[in-house]
Amino acid sequence: MTNSQQKLFGKRSFLDFTLNGKPIEGKPHLMIDNNVRVELWDNGVLYFHPQGDSLQQSILLSVGVHGNETAPIEIIDQLVSDIFAGKIVVKQNLLIVIANLQSIKASCREVVENMNRLFNNNFTPKSDDSDERERSRRLMKYSQHFFNQPALQKVHYDLHTAIRGSVYKKFAISPNACELPTTGYQYGLLGQWGIEAILSTQQNSPTYSAFTANTCGATSFTLELGQVKPFGENDLDDFSSVIAGLKATISDDEYLPMNNKVAKRFSVAVEVLKQTDNFRLGFSSDTVNFTEFEVGDVLATDKDYQYIVASSGERILFPNEQVAIGQRALVIIRPQDNVEASTL
Ligand SMILES: [Zn+2]
Repeated sequence: MTNSQQKLFGKRSFLDFTLNGKPIEGKPHLMIDNNVRVELWDNGVLYFHPQGDSLQQSILLSVGVHGNETAPIEIIDQLVSDIFAGKIVVKQNLLIVIANLQSIKASCREVVENMNRLFNNNFTPKSDDSDERERSRRLMKYSQHFFNQPALQKVHYDLHTAIRGSVYKKFAISPNACELPTTGYQYGLLGQWGIEAILSTQQNSPTYSAFTANTCGATSFTLELGQVKPFGENDLDDFSSVIAGLKATISDDEYLPMNNKVAKRFSVAVEVLKQTDNFRLGFSSDTVNFTEFEVGDVLATDKDYQYIVASSGERILFPNEQVAIGQRALVIIRPQDNVEASTL
């Protein structure tokens, strides 16, 4: 462990310090090799700022919005240690966020409520707000502050792993409303990182990535990188292409992909809401994400409603019969080539 890492975190790693260390007083900061200023903005919120006059990219890397999605948290912890050890030279403005600390400590997805539905500035603070609500409010403030600085590009990767299996093991959700040149560049990059599918969605949802896309002007992605496992059971080799991509992005190295893979593109056709207790899915509960159905298949029924596959190539995402009434119970997606002109 290097001196500078010890100065900030004692004898602990960033993750260990974040979960078990002393409360932070003030805004500890120091310089590391290669003229990079490091500031600890809050518990689990670490800022790297290479000094100099040239304009850099601003990259926000967040993990642990769902506390049991441990692989990305381990990846970030290793990345921070590698930076302090000089193995990775930070050449971009970089904000690293470990989001839902209470749920990570409790080894659960959420303690009170799903944090990835709370990134919305319209909630009025109340005295009995959950830890998740308070934390998301602080993270919105830090993210806005971070992205307010001028930058060549503003990019946010919010790293997750999924509960459900998936036809495409690694996929991205892209909430940006319009396709800027940066977005196309990022789509290409993510394909090289081994991301197999990218879903564009302009539904106004209060996820962390939608917040930074819509409020902070970032090109943002929720990245689903594989299946949920407890700490210590992840094989980080499963994530090697993503880790290599992140390292190259942070250090401004040319990323040399092993192959020239291109991610398949999808867009949201319909979001099916659960309207009554009669809501039922038309397929078994263990059906994996991105499963394709045939025209005419009934995918969901409710009192006075059913969803029947209307065009070829339709697939399902995030099915969940158990959500509260009024919440999204199923997403129907279509390959982007098949999107009808009227919906583009
Ligand atoms: Zn998640």
